Amino acid sequence: MSGIVGYIGKRNAQPILLDSLEHLDYRGYDSAGIAISNGTTIEKRRSVGRVKDLRTCILREPIPSGTIGIGHTRWATHGTPSVQNSHPLTGCDDRFLVVHNGIIENYTALKRSLKKQGHVFKTDTDTEVIPHLLEQYDTGDFETTVQAILPLLRGSFALAMMSREHPNMIIAVSQDNPLIIGFGKGEAYLASDIPALLPYTREFYPIKNNEMAILTLGKVQLKTYDGISVEPKRVTVDWNVQDVLFPDQDHHMLKEILEQTKAVEETLKGRLTPVGVKLPEIEAPWSKERVQNISKIHIVASGTSYHAGIIGKKVLEQLLQIPVQVSFSSEFRDDHPPLDDRDLIIVLSQSGETADTLSALREAKRFGCPVIAITNTVGSTISRKADNTLYTKAGPELAVASTKAYTSQLTVMMLLALWLEQQIRDTHDEYSQALLESLTRLPMDIDSTLIMTKDAIDQLAQITYDQEHLFLIGRGLDYVLALEGALKLQEVAYIHADAYAAGEMKHGTMALITPGVPVIALATQTHLMDKVISNIKEVKARDAFVIGITKIGEDLLTEEVDQVLYIPETHPFLMPILAAIPLQLLAYYSGTVRGHDVDRPRNLAKSLTVE
Ligand code: GLU
Repeated sequence: MSGIVGYIGKRNAQPILLDSLEHLDYRGYDSAGIAISNGTTIEKRRSVGRVKDLRTCILREPIPSGTIGIGHTRWATHGTPSVQNSHPLTGCDDRFLVVHNGIIENYTALKRSLKKQGHVFKTDTDTEVIPHLLEQYDTGDFETTVQAILPLLRGSFALAMMSREHPNMIIAVSQDNPLIIGFGKGEAYLASDIPALLPYTREFYPIKNNEMAILTLGKVQLKTYDGISVEPKRVTVDWNVQDVLFPDQDHHMLKEILEQTKAVEETLKGRLTPVGVKLPEIEAPWSKERVQNISKIHIVASGTSYHAGIIGKKVLEQLLQIPVQVSFSSEFRDDHPPLDDRDLIIVLSQSGETADTLSALREAKRFGCPVIAITNTVGSTISRKADNTLYTKAGPELAVASTKAYTSQLTVMMLLALWLEQQIRDTHDEYSQALLESLTRLPMDIDSTLIMTKDAIDQLAQITYDQEHLFLIGRGLDYVLALEGALKLQEVAYIHADAYAAGEMKHGTMALITPGVPVIALATQTHLMDKVISNIKEVKARDAFVIGITKIGEDLLTEEVDQVLYIPETHPFLMPILAAIPLQLLAYYSGTVRGHDVDRPRNLAKSLTVE
């Protein structure tokens, strides 16, 4: 999931490329590189590591200034992170320079045939076949050369390409991987996502499959692969540039955890009315009859979004009495139950670009299933491919570990469940009426949770300094919460954190409980409290160090644990939203206390645009 940037205009390209790349380094930070044209010649610099390492490399060996350029920050899929494998990549004679996000699935066959034709390869990447193909099919005209090679490529690829023989031009394509054009006055930008370009413009066009963008000075042309002109329909976003600048807090992750009150408030805005939930985005296409005709719901997502999906399942099943299945996106494409047009598919993806989720969406569409997407990114590929999209309004999320996007996804899930229930039954029963009312107070409750837990967790995280293992236990919704808490701790604190359904410990995992091992017991669901307390006693009997997370007033639990953290009480379905916050904070503070780069955890990247 590398990040791509580009600039063409009158200004010095170098700072624009480097600053935009820095915004994209959540997509990969194995290496970075840029190529800049001064209108006559093109020079490139590449470096292993992050954009700051590339800056140092350029300080040592300055790059001549120019107003046209492309750049890349890499998350390696093929070939180790090395200078040699860094983009921009070139072919035999350096004529073409290419930055790529995605995977060329047929690169082995292409490489074999190019080698037979005398091409010599310098890297282990899949990407390198592209500059060689450009050399092989060079017509002398950059545009027709690109047109000639695109049909040969299989897989997913966002590309920005330059040619030394046409140094005043950038050609960009976006096949199943995002690439956005940003429009300025007499200048144009490219980036893998919108936030990277917010300091420069609010007007964008996401390049679509089978389209190529030809960027020359003062002009952006869009054509299909067969050369038919396309009018780029621009989208304007109202995101704030402050959202993407470096935060006052030490890290984006902390900033984003603290922003959850606002994110959820924005996500609820205009959607909660005295007469119930309003979701104009789906109201027209989803008549009452159509909703009542749904036989099964499938939620498809990956990572943290998958956990939001499991909570969504429990809420939807209880409110609608319709069976709901949750699948990992990466599994769904190849392994799903029989589907037809009465199966509603809900896909969740913060970025709206997750390749596995996109494949699952396509698979569902192949069977005629209607698809509703829940995403945070306007104009993203998933939002365009789904029949309808419900946006979370969390604002840009830049830390690799998802926090505010997760709680906003859960909020949308609640709204969707209530809205579907309205279509099926016309009114809400007492339980869902209470959910509706609790949703109006949710931003306030999030605020109180942050106040009640932030400093306490900062202290508590010290005990994880030298821990290798940690367990999280819970029942029902608290078990799902445990899964999410474990994932966060793995992602940013590199602790082997494992989540267990509390009642399952005795069936095997109890063998791992040794004196002093930290166990986080989640107990937010009143109807399960007695049983969880029994499970806590079981681990306490083996001398575990138990930290309880529960709602204010649960005194029985307090007596059983070594330490307790209280959060406000709300509707049972919303407790996982509040209780996620201390777990996010614990992951954050544990990560920092253990000396890790919490915003850019090792081996990970955000927005996984490769399968
Ligand atoms: N496949 C390319 C490489 O390994 C790009 C990776 C990506 O976009 O994730 O260099």
